[in-house]
Amino acid sequence: MLGQMMQMPLTIGSLIDHAARFHTAGEIVSVETAGGTETTTWGQVGVNARRLASALGKLGLEQGARCGTIAWNNRRHLEIYFGVAGGGFVCHTINPRMGPEQMVYVINHAEDQVLFIDATFVPAAAKLAPALKHCKYIVMLGPRDDAAAAALPDLKFFDELLETGDPDQPWPEIDENSASSLCYTSGTTGDPKGVLYSHRSTVLHTLAGNQPDGINISAMDTVLPVVPMFHVNAWGVPYIAAMTGCKLVLPGPNLDGKSLVNLIDSTQTTLALGVLTIWMGLLGALKETGSKVPSLTRTVVGGSALPPSMIPKFAEYGVELVHAWGMTETSPLGSMNQLLQRHKALSAEEQAEIRLGQGRPPFGVDLRIVDEEGHTLPHDGKTQGDLQVRGPWIVDTYFGKEKTALTADGWFDTGDVATINAQGFMIIRDRSKDIIKSGGEWISTVTLENIAISHPAIANAAAIAAAHEKWDERPVLVAIKAGDVSEEELLAFYKGKVESWQIPDRVIFVDELPIGSTGKVQKNKLRDEFSRVLVDAP
Ligand code: AMP
Repeated sequence: MLGQMMQMPLTIGSLIDHAARFHTAGEIVSVETAGGTETTTWGQVGVNARRLASALGKLGLEQGARCGTIAWNNRRHLEIYFGVAGGGFVCHTINPRMGPEQMVYVINHAEDQVLFIDATFVPAAAKLAPALKHCKYIVMLGPRDDAAAAALPDLKFFDELLETGDPDQPWPEIDENSASSLCYTSGTTGDPKGVLYSHRSTVLHTLAGNQPDGINISAMDTVLPVVPMFHVNAWGVPYIAAMTGCKLVLPGPNLDGKSLVNLIDSTQTTLALGVLTIWMGLLGALKETGSKVPSLTRTVVGGSALPPSMIPKFAEYGVELVHAWGMTETSPLGSMNQLLQRHKALSAEEQAEIRLGQGRPPFGVDLRIVDEEGHTLPHDGKTQGDLQVRGPWIVDTYFGKEKTALTADGWFDTGDVATINAQGFMIIRDRSKDIIKSGGEWISTVTLENIAISHPAIANAAAIAAAHEKWDERPVLVAIKAGDVSEEELLAFYKGKVESWQIPDRVIFVDELPIGSTGKVQKNKLRDEFSRVLVDAP
């Protein structure tokens, strides 16, 4: 027997409709590329999103057509998020930090018919344009700009395009399983792979990701997604913001610590989200400016492991640090770290130790760890295995590929190595390709890096596997100094913190580490350069 309730598709258009109707005057503060801020409302974003959908239809785009964006976090990008998906097209966010070859690859692979670009990227787009095979229109975000028009023939302007659209045109009927947005992984080897999200997967991710033990945004919050809108849909924050009607602050192109402190203080931001390097920059700027960011109550950090020193540093400012894990393939929220009732009586240090892990999955995400043969391993907090995940907002097949991305029994292998304890708290120990195997025993690069970063004279560090005649692989640390420290002193600092056989064989000091387009250290580059230092050494 079937239930007798309404069938309403879960669509992105319905998210912005909710915000526009029930949080009409809710504010969105947008830092503009040309300088200064603009303030708009959920009501106006709703109007412009509908106008855009209608204007794209008038340009002749058919349902499912891909529209690329190369843009910062600002209000026009937000209107594109909702207008493109709401109109039945697919919003393909492109990471501007990709090299030009990769950019051409993803735009052609996605078959983008329209490319929305920030003014910053007019010169880059002029160079790329001849290589784009399917692109019919390039649209600059902003009003008409004669200099830009001269640099890129046939350039259209977003504000003029909106004028051609009808704000009263209803959203088309959309099957909730149809594609809504597309994001390519930052894969360090091979071509980037596209993850094609659906309306349904996005709405379910929005609902589940914002549970109290998840991102926990309410209409009382002022939310600053520093995480770019080109990185896995800014972790879903634009959709959660529309669902809750919170005040949204979009930081534009300048993400240095000082600009962020000013923005947090001027908008009274309560929650900010971003990767570790952003928070390192913010901490530096707090010292410099003397601001205590009194409005800020919490930050969500993800994208790479959290060094232990960060939680107490933010606690000094009364800011709670919430650690999250996820991937492009997981929309991205896979786990968030919030404490349980049983942890209430623990000391601040004990609580901080638990919060260093990547946390527990929300309802909708199932996690398991397996050994090399695919056997499920126990959740005892000690046994390490390959982390696999499944759920309604996890990738099934990469865009344009025929073969499923899943194991024979329907799980997605994350490429991360993790432990899970009896309460479901997961800790990422390594990427499977980064982990060091010394004499048959695993050594976690994350552990070695955290110890190095906790040394006051170390600014940043990465541990890699270096080839070794006897042990096959041994750890080598590549580090940036922040003060005076020798290799011997740093190695001595490891004593008592890890087993003696886990202490790196060498430290190589460098001026900078190679950082990829999503802000992570590119260990493959370090391995290319340093993996033979132990065997080639005289
Ligand atoms: P991306 O698809 O670019 O978002 O990268 C996903 C990968 O980033 C994951 O598979 C992890 O290796 C890593 N990652 C993301 N969040 C964390 C975290 N909180 N701790 C450790 N690694 C993380």
